[in-house]
Amino acid sequence: MKIANLFQRPAPVVSFEFFPPKTAEGVDTLYRTVEELRGCRPSFVSVTYGAGGSTRDRTLELVTRIQRELGITAMAHLTCVGSTRAELEETLHRLVDGGIRNVLALRGDPPKGETAFVPVAGGFRYASELVAFIRDRGFDLCVGGACYPEGHVETRDLDQDLVNLVQKVRAGIDFLVTQLFFDNEDHRAFVRRARSAGVAVPIVPGLMPVTNVSQVQRFTQMCGARIPQELQRRLRIVEKDPAAVVATGVQWTVEQARLLLRDGAPGLHFYTLNKSSATLAVHAALGL
Ligand SMILES: Cc1cc2nc3c(=O)[nH]c(=O)nc-3n(C[C@H](O)[C@H](O)[C@H](O)COP(=O)(O)OP(=O)(O)OC[C@H]3O[C@@H](n4cnc5c(N)ncnc54)[C@H](O)[C@@H]3O)c2cc1C
Repeated sequence: MKIANLFQRPAPVVSFEFFPPKTAEGVDTLYRTVEELRGCRPSFVSVTYGAGGSTRDRTLELVTRIQRELGITAMAHLTCVGSTRAELEETLHRLVDGGIRNVLALRGDPPKGETAFVPVAGGFRYASELVAFIRDRGFDLCVGGACYPEGHVETRDLDQDLVNLVQKVRAGIDFLVTQLFFDNEDHRAFVRRARSAGVAVPIVPGLMPVTNVSQVQRFTQMCGARIPQELQRRLRIVEKDPAAVVATGVQWTVEQARLLLRDGAPGLHFYTLNKSSATLAVHAALGL
C-alpha cells in the first residue's frame, strides 16, 4: 500500500517511527514492541536510517520483516549521508525487491563528531536531489520528505527554508512529516505559510510524548525544537517523579493531538523511541 493513497480515506493516517537497534537481540525486542503496537492498527510504521553499514542493513531487514510478517505497511527512511548515487540506487532496488513501496527521502545529519554535512563525491547535497533521482530512475515508490515547523537548524531563515522545501516537494514528494514540535502554534503557522507557498501535499505532524526530561532537552537542542514555557512549568513540578513525568508528557501530547486533528491534520506521526507504553497511552486516550 502506498502511503499517499491512505490520505484519500477519511480516517487520520497514524504512524509510528522506530530506529534500528544496535544488536540482533535489540532487533527481536523491537519486533515485539511493534507487535504490541499492532493492536493500534497503525496506518504504517517507519524505521529510521543510521550512519553505519550494519544499522542500515537492519533498517532494510526490519521494514521488510515488519511488512511481510506483521502485515503492517512499512516505510524505510533513507539518507544521502556517505553514499554515492550508485550505492543509493542499489539500496532502493533492495527495498523495492523486498516489497517496500514507501520511502522517506532525507539528506541526513552530519555523522557524529562532524558539524557540517559534506556530500560524498558522486553523492547528493540535498534531499531534493535524492527525490529527483528516485523519480528520474522510475522507482515504484511513494516518497515522503521531512519538514520543520520551527525551521531547520541550519537554515534559521524561515523564508529560505520554505523556498528549499517547495523545491523538494516539486522534485516529487508525495507527503511531508514534520520534525517534532511541542507548540501547535508553530505548526499552524508553518502549515499556513507552506500552503501559501504552494505546498499542496499532506503535512503530517510529528509528535513525541516526553518521557524523560534530560532526554527531551538533549533532543530539542539537537533538532532546534522549542519546549514551551507551560510544558516546562508542568515538567518542573514533576521532574523528580519519573512516572509523573511520563504522565505529564502523555497528557501534553494528547492535548496537542486532539487540537491538531480538530484543525484538520491529515494524520499523526509518533516518534516512539522504540518504546510502546507512552505511545499506547496517547493512542488510547485519543480513542483513534
Ligand atoms: C520525520 C523525520 C525523519 C527523519 N529521519 C531521519 C533518519 O532516518 N536518519 C537521519 O539521519 N536523519 C533523519 N532525520 C533528520 C534529517 O536527516 C535532518 O534534519 C537533516 O539535517 C535534514 O534532512 P532533510 O531531508 O530535511 O534535508 P534537506 O531537505 O536537504 O534540507 C537540509 C538543509 O538544507 C537546506 N536546503 C535544502 N535545499 C537547499 C538548496 N537547494 N540550497 C541551499 N540550501 C538548501 C534546507 O533549508 C535545510 O536547512 C529525520 C527528520 C525528520 C523530520
